Amino acid sequence: MALPTETLASAQDAGEALHHFEQARYLGRTAALFLLDFRGIAIDQLTNCVTELRKALRNSELIILFDATDSPALAACLKIAGSTERMTFLTAPLGGNLVVKTLKAVAERQRAGAHSKRAMRDSSEAIKGLEVQIEELRARLDIAKHASRHDHLTGSLNRSGFVEELNMRLTRNRQMQNVLMIDLDRFKAVNDTLGHAAGDELVRKISTGMAAVLPSGAILARLGGDEFGIIAESLSDVAMTELCNKILRVASQSRIIAGHEVQVSASIGIARQGATHSEVELMRQADLALYAAKREGRNRFRVFDDALDQVTQYRLTLESGLERALNAGQLKMVYQPIVKADTRAILGYEALVRWDSPDYGSIPPDEFIPIAEETGLILDVGEWIAREALRDCRKWNLPYVSINLSSRQFLRHNVGERILRYAADADVSPHRVQIELTETAIIDDVERASYNLRILREAGVRVALDDFGTGYSSLVYLKQFAIDCIKIDKSFVDNIARERQSAVIVASVAKLAKSLGMSVVAEGVETEDQRTILMASGCNMLQGFHFGRPMAAAELAPGHLSEPKY
Ligand code: C2E
Ligand code: CA
Ligand code: CA
Repeated sequence: MALPTETLASAQDAGEALHHFEQARYLGRTAALFLLDFRGIAIDQLTNCVTELRKALRNSELIILFDATDSPALAACLKIAGSTERMTFLTAPLGGNLVVKTLKAVAERQRAGAHSKRAMRDSSEAIKGLEVQIEELRARLDIAKHASRHDHLTGSLNRSGFVEELNMRLTRNRQMQNVLMIDLDRFKAVNDTLGHAAGDELVRKISTGMAAVLPSGAILARLGGDEFGIIAESLSDVAMTELCNKILRVASQSRIIAGHEVQVSASIGIARQGATHSEVELMRQADLALYAAKREGRNRFRVFDDALDQVTQYRLTLESGLERALNAGQLKMVYQPIVKADTRAILGYEALVRWDSPDYGSIPPDEFIPIAEETGLILDVGEWIAREALRDCRKWNLPYVSINLSSRQFLRHNVGERILRYAADADVSPHRVQIELTETAIIDDVERASYNLRILREAGVRVALDDFGTGYSSLVYLKQFAIDCIKIDKSFVDNIARERQSAVIVASVAKLAKSLGMSVVAEGVETEDQRTILMASGCNMLQGFHFGRPMAAAELAPGHLSEPKY
């Protein structure tokens, strides 16, 4: 009979067959198929053979020939193998054709199995490779960033280094942070009369003097011309006063610069970390305190308190006004198209909230959503947003709506069921709903997030990861949460036309996302150049002012379901 043209070796028993197999392996071949002829042979010999071969060759195909009458042999083989996987039984008497067909089919199965295993191995290696590549690019960006964090004149941190350091300490340290902003009084006069070189020398000397009086763990930065910042941890009132007096003394020492005696002084504004964890807020408070110190006569320090602050008043107003705004119908939803990168066809809309306040005008969501999160009002506001967006989806026949859920809202008990109920109430299929989450919403409570995601995904709701690239998690890690789509943060898109590295990162992320089965939306696209580069980088969906600003549902161009717009 005609057998498939592969290398063939025959043996009298299993021992000999295994010997052949070892030889083949030594020559770099693998034995894929074993044809065992057990016609007329005792059952215990058969079972011994199968046991041995299965142990030695887990992944090979075994084809066993036996007499049609020998059903105990069949039962014995099955018992050993546990299943018929990779085992085929042929009963004698045999038609030659049947044997060839069977051998071919089994060989094919073996080949396909090996191929898919290799493909899986290859793709997981490719994914690893891409992750490494992204890591490397990130590291290179980090090096560039490091260089851009320092001040040339004094060697200390510059403003962006200072902000980053403060941010890091506020998120990672449990110690209370204090921010001191220091401004030299009458420095401009030195610069104007003695020249910039003299000004630089004075700045350098004062900087060195201040560095020498810092408490341990504190850090000094030069924030601008004659402006310095200090971050110091957990200082008592007494220690803070002591530190400030030392700095004032250092600054007001008289010095000889460019042959002239020079004396300046300093004003200091201090913010102590209270409820806020925002570096922007702490620096703003320290700045306000610094201006107060200057107003009050310079050469002194001033600690920030609420009385100094209009913004605190504004926040309080927002806090108390938001609930009223919700009930008085001052919140509105607007919708921004998400388009197909190549044709610009509108695929769906992201829902964004607006607050039109009669007292303050239009208040951006960046300002009031964080307040709503802190006060817990986000739960009511979030419910209103989701219901409104879904109603609009139904009313204006939007292809889908993408609803932003803040972390606190997403980690709410039963949020999955809630969203599905809102969709049902609005008569919108879950397939027309997408939710947007940030990484923190998932990572803050992995168990609850997984549960909520499962409920939503099973019903057909899509999940997008918002602001991707601003957090720290790897895509491969996030993949386990069954995310459909990642939205690449606007900061990458902003730089993409200018910085090759941003483009390369976006391309790697897009490629990796694709290999993990996720689609990619790039956000904040404002120019045709950006569109071209993003498309080449593998982003299949785009969003940004270039395609459409967020608009009230009633103002959306009619017929968005019709042919693509160019
Ligand atoms: P986000 O989710 O990243 O939303 C995208 C923001 O980018 C929106 O700002 C949008 O108007 C803006 N944008 C879109 N394309 C462009 C562009 O080409 N250029 C520029 N410069 N900006 C663009 P918006 O509406 O002010 O929202 C800001 C943030 O507030 C949102 O960022 C989101 O984090 C939050 N937010 C807005 N609406 C909601 C909401 O309904 N619920 C929740 N939880 N958060 C919301
Ligand atoms: Ca969003
Ligand atoms: Ca975003």
